Amino acid sequence: VSLGEFDLIARYFDAPAPGAVLGIGDDCALWSPSPGQHLALSCDTLVEGRHFLPDVDPIALGHKALAVNLSDLAACGARPCCFLLAATLPRVDEPFLAGFSQGLRALAAAHRIDLVGGNTTAGPLAFTLTVMGEVPPGQALLRSAAQPGDDLWVSGTLGEARLALMALQGQVKLGTAQLRQARVALEQPQPQVALGLALRGVARAAIDLSDGLLADLGHILQRSGPTGRPLGARIACDALPLGTVLQSQPVAMQQACALAGGDDYQLCFTAAASAATQVAAAGERCGVRLTKIGCLLEPGAGVQVNDGHGRVLATPQQGFDHFRVAPA
Ligand code: ADP
Ligand code: MG
Repeated sequence: VSLGEFDLIARYFDAPAPGAVLGIGDDCALWSPSPGQHLALSCDTLVEGRHFLPDVDPIALGHKALAVNLSDLAACGARPCCFLLAATLPRVDEPFLAGFSQGLRALAAAHRIDLVGGNTTAGPLAFTLTVMGEVPPGQALLRSAAQPGDDLWVSGTLGEARLALMALQGQVKLGTAQLRQARVALEQPQPQVALGLALRGVARAAIDLSDGLLADLGHILQRSGPTGRPLGARIACDALPLGTVLQSQPVAMQQACALAGGDDYQLCFTAAASAATQVAAAGERCGVRLTKIGCLLEPGAGVQVNDGHGRVLATPQQGFDHFRVAPA
């Protein structure tokens, strides 16, 4: 006989939540926010077939389900507090649930946050997590705060998650060791929470990279410009930080993955040029590589992607439709 709903919750999801006033088991969880802080709220869903493949490692999936949500808090400079999990399961698959909860708990423990509640229902496999964080009023990093002339920065490396996905889908051939390495980027992204906190008061606008650099940067440009007139940007293609497996690929593949790949979960942010030293210090403090990849331009200038000699390469409107990047 398979587990019932409540035994399933008890076995795989119910654990002490020392940070909460009340955790799993009642109609609501209770949480005591720090005085004077704003709550930062976000939720993200992972659906089988759309966000993960049926043969995914359940431990990696548990990790990623929480990671993509923490990444949103990181992008706002919010400190994670706790989270809720809505699980939709086609059947009770205990080895799968054990792996999923193991990956979920490990990342939760690393960020010292508790699962305080959720919902469990039968249906097509999907997980929706809701994260709660806090941030002092006025200090959240917003998409709308960029200014022309700002430096444009990214954390970590770009593009390798997309390369791994293409390899898994048979569109690219990678060696076994290379695929194993690239899969880490795809399946175990590390949300840049510490960096988001360190960038409060240092960065202007920020976003986390879930849909690809050009698409996500487009959101900053859109929201930071006057209505209907997005800011422009110039990106130096040679400056893009690439993962080591991606570096072994042809240049066109490198650029496509780094500019238009998704699932990087790095932070893309802008800062005044005069803040460059503080930005670098924040990166060092967090042990995160930060790379200046370009600058922001006046509204109407568009997005220019330059090669090392100042020549303009394909812009999102002209190229990379292979990935169907939504033009901003
Ligand atoms: P209700 O019917 O009042 O919504 P349930 O009986 O469905 O509550 O859930 C019982 C308790 O278990 C609640 O505290 C709920 O938050 C928690 N819970 C249910 N599913 C999950 C899950 N997948 N992960 C964590 N907590 C869960
Ligand atoms: Mg209830």
